[in-house]
Amino acid sequence: MAGKSFFIDTTRCTACRGCQIACKNWNRNGASMTKNTGSHQNPPDLDGNTFKLVRFSEAETNGKVAWYFFADQCRHCLEPPCKDAIEGHVKDGAAQDAATGAVTYTDKAKEAPFDDVRSSCPYDIPRQAADKKLVKCTMCIDRVSNGLLPACVKVCPTGAMNFGDRDAMLTLAKERLEKLKGKYPKAQLLDADQVRTIFLVVDEPAKYHKNAVAGLSTGNARKLAARPVSKPVAGLLRVLRLG
Ligand code: SF4
Ligand code: SF4
Ligand code: SF4
Repeated sequence: MAGKSFFIDTTRCTACRGCQIACKNWNRNGASMTKNTGSHQNPPDLDGNTFKLVRFSEAETNGKVAWYFFADQCRHCLEPPCKDAIEGHVKDGAAQDAATGAVTYTDKAKEAPFDDVRSSCPYDIPRQAADKKLVKCTMCIDRVSNGLLPACVKVCPTGAMNFGDRDAMLTLAKERLEKLKGKYPKAQLLDADQVRTIFLVVDEPAKYHKNAVAGLSTGNARKLAARPVSKPVAGLLRVLRLG
């Protein structure tokens, strides 16, 4: 079960949105009609044209306003609830790539009730395109299976976005966490034992986004946590947990 993983270090993110645009470009997704909502975040949410979204949040900490940037996307869960939800309605509607672990949807997925699929996701990721297809980040499986980096990782200018073999990404994430823990006691890796898109944050996850951690707003955390994790992964992830 090794496969691939992302490591997203939010402390290195400048919210340039290069990853968001690269994702649109590679997937040939057009712009989304939107309006100013009083935030730099644009569009306001993931949608049928937007598989990667840099979320902006503000929160007051010790009398100072702090900005939080969160380059949101599918987590490519090790045991993906969305795949179960789709396949509960339609056979071969979703797939999990054996080499990388990427979770993808087939054209058949649109035969599954969209609300069931979206509500199954602990991170509220799946969306419906104008043609009713169910869509989300594909891990750029077409690029990765040809030896290329995902488009969003390729363009990130700061090193916030990383991608590679899962073991290497877990090692990188752990090393970075160890470096930051002294300065930021709340530093943590989010759901690293259950997903392939591993975020490092240095404050409470909810300050970054209401769905930063499984089930914060969807209530699906227990469903994800109840899934079995293989022994090697469980052992590795005990190391990554914060003391
Ligand atoms: Fe978009 Fe590809 Fe990055 Fe997924 S891996 S967010 S599809 S650019
Ligand atoms: Fe599916 Fe959501 Fe997990 Fe992505 S994050 S694999 S959409 S359940
Ligand atoms: Fe942040 Fe990198 Fe995305 Fe820019 S490209 S918004 S630095 S993750």
